[in-house]
Amino acid sequence: MNRIEPSPPGAGLASSSVPPGPISWPPGVRAAACLTFDMDAEAAVLTADISSISRMSPMSHQSYGPLVGVPRILALLKRHGVTATFFIPGYSAHRYPDVVRAVAEAGHEIAHHSYFHENTIGMDEKTEAAMIDLGLRALHDVAGVRPQGYRAPMWEMNFHTPKLLAERGFRWDSSLMDSDHPYVLAVDGAAPGSLVEVPVSWGLDDWEQYAFLPGLIGSGVIESPAKALEMWTLELDAMHRLGAAFVLCCHPFLSGRPSRAEALERLIERMKELDGLWITTVGEVARHTASLNLVPRTCPQPVIPADAYWVARPPTPEGT
Ligand SMILES: [Zn+2]
Repeated sequence: MNRIEPSPPGAGLASSSVPPGPISWPPGVRAAACLTFDMDAEAAVLTADISSISRMSPMSHQSYGPLVGVPRILALLKRHGVTATFFIPGYSAHRYPDVVRAVAEAGHEIAHHSYFHENTIGMDEKTEAAMIDLGLRALHDVAGVRPQGYRAPMWEMNFHTPKLLAERGFRWDSSLMDSDHPYVLAVDGAAPGSLVEVPVSWGLDDWEQYAFLPGLIGSGVIESPAKALEMWTLELDAMHRLGAAFVLCCHPFLSGRPSRAEALERLIERMKELDGLWITTVGEVARHTASLNLVPRTCPQPVIPADAYWVARPPTPEGT
């Protein structure tokens, strides 16, 4: 008699991902640090609540970023001879073209950060492709740049996003959070079949510390820059000891404020004290990582156990 053996519990559920390891750095380098600035401006707030377009005060809070924060940050970076990466939504480029050109002329790297800081949760592949393409066009038209790198709005990648990026010739992304170290991310169904991932973490984002926009978006707190500096310095020192890549994400409308910019300056001073710390752009870290011929790793989507019928199933797209 043929009996079908039930599959053992847990079959097919194990993650196929391999743990990320430290990479070898160029001679004399022990670890890397990247300063990144996401120039979200009004788009991040308008996406959260389009009716805020008629609210002059929140709009002015957001325009502080490109108008006051970016020039202050550019001066700070120049004083310290640091080159940074600016992630710019296409809409911010259309709205503040002179600011974006000033960033490019100062020699900083410009990377893609959506068109309208869209909410990409559940966004279908076709719409996301159109969003990426319009963002590319905006950065090209305004500043003549063709970015090599991408960061998803609110760091919200879909599992189909890496393929869309690889198909458009992007070389790297900085939106995922499963490693302290840069790595090569395998991309299914696209040539060249991989992207470099330079991971981020919410602990290194000024949004969590300072984003107070009552009734709109943000953490709802205004932390002391001294506390933010303490957290980021602890992480910087620990990541330096690990030989990792420290990626700080700041928003000019938040970290461009006077005492916060001064805290950022203290952090840069600390970076310069650390032995063999490569203070550079995300693109440079990605280029170096790509040169190492690492085996691509995956960030596989979780599978829902068939036997656990009480576990909620994800919604299926309409029409399927
Ligand atoms: Zn953003």
